[in-house]
Amino acid sequence: MILRFWGVRGSIAVPGLDTSRYGGNTSCVELTAPGVASLVFDCGTGARALGRALLARPERELHLLFSHFHMDHVFGFPFFAPIFAPSFETTVSAPAFHPDGAKDRLARYLNGVFHPLRLPEVPGHINYDAIRPARPFERGPWEIVGFALNHPGGACAYRATMDTPSGRRSVAYVTDTAPLSRPGEGIAGGGLPTGRESQFIDFLRGADVVVFDTMFTLPEYLEKMTWGHSYPEYAVAVCDAADVKTLYLFHHAPDATDADLDMLGEYWAGHTRVRVRVAREGQEVNLEG
Ligand SMILES: [Zn+2]
Ligand SMILES: [Zn+2]
Repeated sequence: MILRFWGVRGSIAVPGLDTSRYGGNTSCVELTAPGVASLVFDCGTGARALGRALLARPERELHLLFSHFHMDHVFGFPFFAPIFAPSFETTVSAPAFHPDGAKDRLARYLNGVFHPLRLPEVPGHINYDAIRPARPFERGPWEIVGFALNHPGGACAYRATMDTPSGRRSVAYVTDTAPLSRPGEGIAGGGLPTGRESQFIDFLRGADVVVFDTMFTLPEYLEKMTWGHSYPEYAVAVCDAADVKTLYLFHHAPDATDADLDMLGEYWAGHTRVRVRVAREGQEVNLEG
């Protein structure tokens, strides 16, 4: 089982000399395994390169899961090659009450105004499915469950588990979200988790890898508490409590330069419970190594 980061940035793509090592593309993460259809979390600008890579592989099926429909998570959708390949079958899943929930939202973007193409004109086969956070579902061999996050308009985390030749492996994709407790309360306050945090910790418990929105520093979070993003200390505290093996800090701020992200990685390198890494575009994580 391999995790690949195709886009690790939050809010807006930031190509440039200052971001060339960690990458400037927005959220797109792939979870794959030999001979099975990949899971793709979000379709930010990183999805363009992923789409080209998918076309070069033999599989003709994939499962696309949206955390939510803010632009940094959907901008790459009409530039994602599989949806233009008639041989490809894509299943789009997102939290909704009706299977057409995701379709309706994507159709507001691909409507001839914000993009020249209208969604019904897309030539590939796209199926839509509505999922409910906390209600498990399956996609091929992947066992998946969602968790409702703390973000304006809502967002959904996903945990995907699969039996591999090396044993059972589990990855959680957690973006975009503010802490689930207020400053000074629960895990954020250095105390016992609140009720909602306990559910969150159960959701993440024992995961091999957690990819977590840490766009803000703690002072930035305190200034922008309603914006719906976390900070590294919170992600680390939650993952420590959940006995997660490796945490990837993700959804980097547009202003975070390569030097800033190097410093962030160095700061957390010595943390002894969960292993903390900074997600980098193009990075491949082998969960069976
Ligand atoms: Zn975002
Ligand atoms: Zn968002």
